[in-house]
Amino acid sequence: MFDRPLKILLVSAEVVPFAKTGGLADVAGSLPKALATVGNDHAGNDVRVTLPHYKGIEGARYRMDFPVLFKNRAETAIIREAGLEAQYRGEHRLVPVYLVDNHHYFYRDGMYMFEDEAERFAFFCRAVLEMLPRLNWQPDVIHCNDWQAGPIPFFLKVRYRHDSFYNKMATVFTIHNLQYQGNFPQETLSLLGVGEDYFTPELLEFYGTVSFIKMGILFADVVSTVSRTYAEEIQRPETGERLDGLLRMRAADLYGIVNGINYHEFNPRTDPRIHRNYDRDSLENKRENKYSLQKEMGLPVKNTPVVAMISRLVEQKGLDLVARIIDQLMEMDLQFVLLGTGDPDYEKIFKEIKSKYPGKAGVHIGFNAILAQRIYAGADMFLMPSRFEPCGLGQLIAMRYGTIPIVRAVGGLADTVHDFNPVTGSGNGFVFSEYSEEALLHAVKRALALYRDDPGQWQKLVRHAMEIDYSWARSAVEYLQLYQEALARHTQKAKIA
Ligand code: ADP
Repeated sequence: MFDRPLKILLVSAEVVPFAKTGGLADVAGSLPKALATVGNDHAGNDVRVTLPHYKGIEGARYRMDFPVLFKNRAETAIIREAGLEAQYRGEHRLVPVYLVDNHHYFYRDGMYMFEDEAERFAFFCRAVLEMLPRLNWQPDVIHCNDWQAGPIPFFLKVRYRHDSFYNKMATVFTIHNLQYQGNFPQETLSLLGVGEDYFTPELLEFYGTVSFIKMGILFADVVSTVSRTYAEEIQRPETGERLDGLLRMRAADLYGIVNGINYHEFNPRTDPRIHRNYDRDSLENKRENKYSLQKEMGLPVKNTPVVAMISRLVEQKGLDLVARIIDQLMEMDLQFVLLGTGDPDYEKIFKEIKSKYPGKAGVHIGFNAILAQRIYAGADMFLMPSRFEPCGLGQLIAMRYGTIPIVRAVGGLADTVHDFNPVTGSGNGFVFSEYSEEALLHAVKRALALYRDDPGQWQKLVRHAMEIDYSWARSAVEYLQLYQEALARHTQKAKIA
């Protein structure tokens, strides 16, 4: 299927295990490992990763430094090197990771939200491109993720266009969440090394700002996002975050590939973080995880259905719906468990729910990866009533652990969870469409009814959810096809130009 191994550079502002604030980091940490090991019979692809070297990252060794001409002065970029461990046919492989360091820009508490954000990431993108000839490495494809990497396709098309070292490189730009755009004042043009003639709606101007995400969408050879449904949704005015017009313009080059999860890390058979390991043939052990979760959350230990949420507590996640139906939920035969952190208003609401229903609601405010695994393993149902959801990882992890998702049919949730059909027995969860209390409540009630009235069918549903392949191996093959597509388009455009 793939004629030769590819050289791929993945650019991301965060990569597990070096730096993480959200799902992007999981993708950037897992996809390269999968790419290094799929797609052809001989060597695997030559995949490398780059991100900024933030304060707190340890263990990367010095590789080189060089000046980057930036803002009419020379700023030093220091490149440090580390690796991501991958397995290839039983042998260890190391995916090289290049960390771009500059004391002034990156030695700070925290990763984002600084006044000079445009300057920091424009510098990062320039440094990444300037690093390549010094590594003597010419990637076939540069895979840019989210607004922080948006300037790279732009730089390649404008600044490096006639440079034979760069002009064969194709670019892919992936949108992980369209809400985060990187829009900055007009003065940002000078950081990008262009004048006011670029400040037009056809080029970099976006509602009076210079938009980094727009640069990625406009100049990349192909654009992708993290599910097919989200790729459609973002082309509509209601859900397009003002970029729907541009995305419609690029519709022929816009793809959706759902994220995978790491099947080694998320495996109920071997996961050391959970109380008792199990698989689809030993589901009785899953119940022991429920009992130990109940104990840990201060709930009565009994065989009642546990409905769980693990989520950033933000508007996107549909928490207002949950808060509005909580009194009705608490009248039913179930226990509710929530792990999350975020917006203080939501934290307060869920703490209050915990005090109001001590024997029925277990709430833990905070970020806790170990407790998260125990919840995935111990719960029966997993709630994601999101307003929008580009892909969503929670539902995928839940299914891997035999915990049935109850989701709203948006974005990646719509693509990965299919409504249970009591007649045919098909489906892997419970799905509702309308963003309303009634619709959510109805879905929860349907799930509870099946759990209570037909344990045999419920077990079948659980087994089926556990069997579906949401590993990276599958999505990585789709990304390889996307890279080929980007290369083909790039070559074609070069011929026309
Ligand atoms: P998003 O990227 O919008 O936060 P996803 O569903 O794509 O949503 O990814 C969320 C990931 O973060 C999941 O792996 C989930 O288990 C994890 N997570 C979210 N909140 C917490 C928390 N408070 N503690 C531990 N893990 C969490």
